[in-house]
Amino acid sequence: MKVDVQSNRKFIKLKYKLAWYAGIVLSFLLYFSGIIGLYIFLRKKYFKKYFAVVLTYHSVNDNNNSPDITVSQKNFDSQIAYLVRNFNIVSIDKILDECRYRTQLEDDTIAITFDDGYKDNYTHAYPILKKYHAPFTIFVSTGYIDTTNMLTKEEIAAMHKDKITFGGHTVTHKVLSGLNREAATSEISGSKSALEQILKENVKYFAYPYGKKGRDFTNETMQIVKECGFTAAFSTKNGCIDSNSNYFALNRIGIRNVPLFVFKSRLSGIFENKFITLLRVILGL
Ligand SMILES: [Zn+2]
Repeated sequence: MKVDVQSNRKFIKLKYKLAWYAGIVLSFLLYFSGIIGLYIFLRKKYFKKYFAVVLTYHSVNDNNNSPDITVSQKNFDSQIAYLVRNFNIVSIDKILDECRYRTQLEDDTIAITFDDGYKDNYTHAYPILKKYHAPFTIFVSTGYIDTTNMLTKEEIAAMHKDKITFGGHTVTHKVLSGLNREAATSEISGSKSALEQILKENVKYFAYPYGKKGRDFTNETMQIVKECGFTAAFSTKNGCIDSNSNYFALNRIGIRNVPLFVFKSRLSGIFENKFITLLRVILGL
């Protein structure tokens, strides 16, 4: 049984790796042929079509110990500089309000999030985001606060004072779909109460560990998150959000340590169409 689960995870990892390389090749062709630039120009200036998207980062540092989830400081700085020039960067509160209550966005709108609660969010990412006056949110697995390479209570409190948003990400980062109701509730509400003790205010948002609906969390998990008092929760499914989104399984776009042309292509909106969505459903990505 254990072997089956492991080989299944390995297969999923391989599938994502292949999709990732295919995405880079496609981005290269689209970007350097000028199609991406033309697409953005026409979408914004001619069609006046804008989108809202939430980005997922994990770690920002130059060690590259976990290449899947780490962005170098230089790349992170260039990515945020690009976002500042081309997007309306807002808090989670604001992007959800805009998507819920506004019938039409007036610009491409983006929110920046980090999962897990790595220490480098404070030491490396925070100074860069501060330099660009960019708001952001950190989803913390609270059982790891004050441990090696993770945020401390003091760092969380200091960023909170600076209006950085914090959200729950369970206590011990378990796959919630693999737990019974009681254990899942304790993981979900435990992260909320631990953060509230540090922040002295209500914690509204949650992000599912690993984050794929059906695999890592279920409808029942979403119900528990709601019952625990969260007002919205984020998955790791790729895509934009709008007024039709399920607010307890919100899409995000995961960002990796990629050349800037891939980042720009990924956020051009060109991949957010029915054909690509259908292809993702067929390939199970
Ligand atoms: Zn996580």
